[in-house]
Amino acid sequence: MPMPFPASERNLLPRLHTKRSGKPKARTTCPGGCSAKVARIGTLPDAFEFAGRALDSPLPGGSLCRCNACGLHWRYPQLDKSELDALYRQGAAASWQYHPVKRQDWQTASGIIRKNVDIASVLDVGCFDGRFLDYLGSGYRRAGIEVHPLAAEHAAAKGIEIVGRDFSDLDTLQAPFDVVVAMDVIEHVSNPEAFLASLVRAARPGGLIIISTGNTASLSWRLMGGMYWYCSIAEHIAFINPHWCKHTAEKMDLTIEDLITFSHEPARTPEAFVQAAANLFYRYLPNLAFTLRRLYAQYKGKACRPAYRTPPHWRSARDHLLIALRIPPNDSRQPSNQTSAEAPTYPAGWFCEAAIRLMTS
Ligand SMILES: [Zn+2]
Repeated sequence: MPMPFPASERNLLPRLHTKRSGKPKARTTCPGGCSAKVARIGTLPDAFEFAGRALDSPLPGGSLCRCNACGLHWRYPQLDKSELDALYRQGAAASWQYHPVKRQDWQTASGIIRKNVDIASVLDVGCFDGRFLDYLGSGYRRAGIEVHPLAAEHAAAKGIEIVGRDFSDLDTLQAPFDVVVAMDVIEHVSNPEAFLASLVRAARPGGLIIISTGNTASLSWRLMGGMYWYCSIAEHIAFINPHWCKHTAEKMDLTIEDLITFSHEPARTPEAFVQAAANLFYRYLPNLAFTLRRLYAQYKGKACRPAYRTPPHWRSARDHLLIALRIPPNDSRQPSNQTSAEAPTYPAGWFCEAAIRLMTS
């Protein structure tokens, strides 16, 4: 069960809940600056948890919006940076143990890095406790950016050089890296294009950027729309897809070297079938699905959780993507010592992991 927020920190929450009211409307412009129309493609459910903590009262869900030009999806309305930072800080106090699993994005990313013999340095943005860099092996200069102090300490103990805490530190790095990776991070930033530009400035000309995140173009996401588990997590605020990757790569003069789709937790057939059936039940008969889930919890002697109102995590779905982007050898964008006006906010990959763990507990 999620931990409650400490009483001393609860005074922030009522303000968050009262500032928005009425029917949510789609944001009229794309965060990436496109001039195309914005479509409202679904209603996001209220969130009952944030970064591993149970909320006293739910955060209103709002709308899932889509830019008709670049294909970016985003949550609207969004909390501002100070509000998100406050919630992340509270979440950071949660006690949470990570159980390592073989992640396909780690395997693919490390395969890409190993086959490029000219790669000597790797920066992991949102490295948490350095587990990906540890998995990669010690044959590289390995550096990380991590906001969570304890996680950064664990990473340092593994030999990872912590070069920053916040994403805004990307623009203050002195020596560019051969490859910059950001796994399960881009969905936490309000402007993915500005975030990608920061990653590019942290890499050398001819270097690589590797990103993994959810994919709005996956079949399961398109079936579920705004109800999909991935976009119902409150700290996930922007979502990309292969169309956005191609559009943005062209705009930023980057070459796509790899683009794969994958499932974070591939399941055997019976389990995959149950997850699909449960989600589709919620899609078409949400009240009945909630009632049955509540009764089942009762039968098992468990308390009914507010999160039962939203569909369960579709773990087996092939709903993630990994992309590797090559920077031109003659690129002149880096290094930059100027802080980006679009510097993304506080989160790190482990919050995403914590949320996923909550939803599957
Ligand atoms: Zn756009």
